Amino acid sequence: MTRLHFASALLPSGWTNDVQVVVTAGAIASVTPGAAPAPGDERHDIALPGLASLHSHAFQRGMAGLAELRGNATDTFWTWRETMYRFALAMTPDDVAAVATLLYVEMLERGFTRVGEFHYLHHDRDGSPYSDPAEMAARIAQACSDSGIALTLLPSFYAHGSFGGAAPHAGQRRFVCSVDQFAALMAASRKAIGGLRDANIGIAPHSLRAVAPDELPAIVPLAEDGPVHIHAAEQTKEVEDCLAWSGLRPVQWLLEHAPVDRRWCLIHATHMTDAETVALARSGAVAGLCPVTEASLGDGIFPAREFLGAGGIFGVGTDSNVMVGVDDELRQLEYGQRLRHRERNVLSGSAGASTGRTLFDRALAGGAQALAQTGIGLAPGARADIVTLDTTHPSLAGRRGDAVIDGWIFAAGHSAIDCVWAGGDKVVEAGRHRLRQAARERFNASVRRLVA
Ligand code: ZN
Repeated sequence: MTRLHFASALLPSGWTNDVQVVVTAGAIASVTPGAAPAPGDERHDIALPGLASLHSHAFQRGMAGLAELRGNATDTFWTWRETMYRFALAMTPDDVAAVATLLYVEMLERGFTRVGEFHYLHHDRDGSPYSDPAEMAARIAQACSDSGIALTLLPSFYAHGSFGGAAPHAGQRRFVCSVDQFAALMAASRKAIGGLRDANIGIAPHSLRAVAPDELPAIVPLAEDGPVHIHAAEQTKEVEDCLAWSGLRPVQWLLEHAPVDRRWCLIHATHMTDAETVALARSGAVAGLCPVTEASLGDGIFPAREFLGAGGIFGVGTDSNVMVGVDDELRQLEYGQRLRHRERNVLSGSAGASTGRTLFDRALAGGAQALAQTGIGLAPGARADIVTLDTTHPSLAGRRGDAVIDGWIFAAGHSAIDCVWAGGDKVVEAGRHRLRQAARERFNASVRRLVA
């Protein structure tokens, strides 16, 4: 049992002073507001719940910063895609474990306590399945176990190279499955996470490019009651290709042909008409926004003001993991809207409302929905995922309540994070995960070989 005392904590009911939190078996057993600190309580100033990164491709952390060279004039995305395939084709299971472990250590140091791993690097380097089809998924699970982050594993079904069932190309050989192979992969993946505390599983039909219409109803039931994630409408070319194939735009196609509801999460959904934006909001599905990656890849800007105005639900993901941080994603989300609308505090909702707090609350709720978390926030029964902030940080000096979140998101960044508990285990202290050094050394050894 661990007893924590916070001078101020963000509870589901709002900021509350003098909060004692008792943690047993990794979960929050009780939350007592207005409690004086008792002998034996570990005392901290400001506490918030950890957030989910609802969309991650862990292996891409290995290539962060390596694709900042322009390709030819018409395809500026080219150098990123080529680098991504080069890494995807070269990495061994040990490399994936090394890269994922450092990534999850960094996620925890920067405020994420659960990851939705949209996992598509399934097979051996020549494209043949490993003897355990979930070999790579098991490495992801081990990295979660070692770092302490909670896992929602989303094995990705990837069968085709483009819309209409086009054959995949050689560079995609490690991703590709038949429906039957994928069913076996799902069964093995369930086993791979079986011993991992607080883990759950859904599925991820990769995109309408990679999944044919008749395959979607065959694989969605494999999620059982777990979440369903799909990339949609990330780039304008994808929208054009989808229109040429079906006469419909990707989000429109999904809303008309798939049972999109609260279990679903549409990743990106960047390019939508006003009608699609309202229809997606009304479906109850989560928009899985990855603002840093969407900026890095030049995807475009999500219609966030319109989507939130229609009651839409969003969460955030670190996706390509080129940079990792709760603050980075929420700040980029708001800054994209400021640049688009030439206004300030676009997503705060109402006069006087804090932008940081509004974004934090919505991303917490949307991330929990998208990853089928059972408890949420600092409340009894929830997993004990707790982040404390360093109120001696100059950008937090003299602040209380929502101003602390604004100071963190818009000024201090992740250097404001002090301690993080993941499932009740204090894995980050003074901003450092206990595995930081070992994880860096292992990551560096893999990546030095991969870039050579
Ligand atoms: Zn993605």
